Amino acid sequence: MSLAAPLGLSARALREAILAGSFSVLEVTEAHLAQIAKHNSELQAFQRVDAESALARARELDAALARGEGNGPLFGVPVALKANMCVQGMETNCGSRILEGYIAPYTASFVQKLLDAGAVLLGVTEMDEFAMGSSGENSAFGCPRNPWDTQLTAGGSSSGAAVAVATRMVPIALGSDTGGSVRQPAAFCGIYGLKPTYGRISRYGLVAFGSSLDQVSPFAHTAGDLELVLEVLSGLDERDSTSLPLPAFEPERPAEAQRLVGLKVGVLKHELNADVAPEVLVQCQAQLERLEAMGAELMEIELPHLSYAIPTYYVVATAEASSNLGRYDGSLFGKRIEGDGSLTGMFEATRNGAFGDEVKRRILLGTYVLSAGYAEAWYGKAQRVRTLLRRDYAAAFEAVDVLASPTAPTTAFRLGAKKEDALAMYLSDLFTVPASLAGLPALSLPAGLTSNDTGCLPVGLQLVGPALSEGRLLRLARALESSQTSALPIPPLCTEIR
Ligand code: GLN
Repeated sequence: MSLAAPLGLSARALREAILAGSFSVLEVTEAHLAQIAKHNSELQAFQRVDAESALARARELDAALARGEGNGPLFGVPVALKANMCVQGMETNCGSRILEGYIAPYTASFVQKLLDAGAVLLGVTEMDEFAMGSSGENSAFGCPRNPWDTQLTAGGSSSGAAVAVATRMVPIALGSDTGGSVRQPAAFCGIYGLKPTYGRISRYGLVAFGSSLDQVSPFAHTAGDLELVLEVLSGLDERDSTSLPLPAFEPERPAEAQRLVGLKVGVLKHELNADVAPEVLVQCQAQLERLEAMGAELMEIELPHLSYAIPTYYVVATAEASSNLGRYDGSLFGKRIEGDGSLTGMFEATRNGAFGDEVKRRILLGTYVLSAGYAEAWYGKAQRVRTLLRRDYAAAFEAVDVLASPTAPTTAFRLGAKKEDALAMYLSDLFTVPASLAGLPALSLPAGLTSNDTGCLPVGLQLVGPALSEGRLLRLARALESSQTSALPIPPLCTEIR
């Protein structure tokens, strides 16, 4: 590892280098801001960059270090947030016109934890409106580009955060994952993404989409950094009633952390595998063979209700969204549009004028599945199917320790390819949605690059484990990481990091 420049180092390595005096926090911050300045206009990862306050914060941290203070686990590490996370005094617009100019009155508890750990916030990244989407195209503002091929989507909805980490604008970014919004963009951009067990990280200060599904989820370019962020952010928070009453995540002890022998990995078998692109299957298969060579045992596993996951998710998530988004009507929340001057006219004009098409579609769907006379047939049934899926997982985890599948059925698709076809877009979440419905931890790790006439594109392998098994998922991810013969590939346009 070269210490000539701080760009491209992991959060752990950066912190160590700062504490060892190799770089000041200011140098680290400036280098990452320069990387953003170099690529952001083309890639549109960041919605807003707050260079001035980042530099001021960096100087403060350098001064603290000189006084012998400040040695947090993320000391001096540049980070980025998704635009649905509250930071007091900053705009939190969720990629939506309706919240344009909305200034958060408080700081999310997980953001506060990042800051308390010594992180330097560089800015806010672009996202699909209210986290609804799989391509970044539903933002009311910019649409991020995939750094491996700028004609392609970076995935979604945490699109900008994934691009920011993939291009080393920051070593760590936070996204939110409701049905795959961190895992799928991680796969499309060639980095790591972890959706923790539901309730692991407090949602206090994360703008709600589907409250029984939403989880704050980190991106990183090493498995070790995911572990570090989970350690910092997890733990009970009284301000979120769904936060698990548990202490913070503790990484596995080294002796345990190296053990792969005898670990049973279930390879997800399903007729829908037929829809998976062959080049994706080839890359995932290669990773599974690596695990096998390191002593893991592979066996095929079926989740009998898997094919119901997408329809179930689009009932549950839209129902919750229609209820959560009810507050944006121009009275207390949401940019008011007066309309015909009556109160209902104002509600109508505000919601009609300021929500994008996909959000409106979801509100309509969600209102329908909850409406009198239909709620039992739709919402009630979806909840029961959700239980069946949970039971499928419980049965699978009697036989295996983790389940492996591709993160997404294809590599990144072309921008525009699915924009007009909602169903095709929804189906790209085939493998990520089930673990969300069951509340289970799931990790997407880089599984190499395809090489064909369409170029070199990243593939993601997803690992899902029982509740609270993040340590095990990270153990497998680390084992695969250290067994690779070369370092994690970096998008070709990042010529400065090689
Ligand atoms: N793509 C899925 C959706 O549109 C998942 C979104 C997410 O995880 N926030 O709902």
